[in-house]
Amino acid sequence: MSENICYADAYARQTDADVVDVDADAHAVLLDRTVFYPGGGGQPADSGRLVGDAGGSWTVTGARKRGEDVWHAVAEGEELPAVNTQVTAEIDWERRHRLMRTHSALHVLCGVVWRDHRASVTGGNMQPLSGRMDFEFETMSGDLVAEIEQRVNEEVAADREIRVSILPREEAFAIPDLLRTKINLLPEGITEVRTIEIVGLDLQADGGTHVAHTGEIGRVKVTGYESKGRINKRIRIEVSDD
Ligand SMILES: [Zn+2]
Repeated sequence: MSENICYADAYARQTDADVVDVDADAHAVLLDRTVFYPGGGGQPADSGRLVGDAGGSWTVTGARKRGEDVWHAVAEGEELPAVNTQVTAEIDWERRHRLMRTHSALHVLCGVVWRDHRASVTGGNMQPLSGRMDFEFETMSGDLVAEIEQRVNEEVAADREIRVSILPREEAFAIPDLLRTKINLLPEGITEVRTIEIVGLDLQADGGTHVAHTGEIGRVKVTGYESKGRINKRIRIEVSDD
């Protein structure tokens, strides 16, 4: 199993690592340790590079989980490093930080919509600085969406702490609000649940990377909303620096 630092420290941009296996068919390498987020929960995988201690560098175009291992896809046309090569693995930090801001903005949106309207999330997706969330939200309207945008930015301005915890399964399942993020769909064998808490606003079971305080998100703008049926509604957002 490869150790992944990103779950405990989303701000880790790089780590020393050894190449422990290579897969010529997938053109990918397995490291003993990594900072690359392998994708999931609507957040795309990181890209970046590996720099060899003894020279050489490799472009990492993406990462993917296989079992508990994270495989790093190397750009086509670049020769794979040999097993036991010592490298520094580093992510494209600018892109990742934008994803962390966007991911955190979606949590704020989720928290505001639940707090003010008791509408639960059914799914979401993001790219750096833009994202969407789907809700079971029958009463959503243009007026409401404008108000939601304002409330979201109030929570950004409040600079709330965003806290990561690992809870035993039983403890996590005892938190009523966590049920709305479909925690009950987690596989039977899971013994620990990672939670992301925007202190005072939102608590979810989650595997992604987030900023440490909501103030780091920046300005959130609702760029659109649409009906995906009578009950299911989609809200689109963009995140900017001003
Ligand atoms: Zn999240």
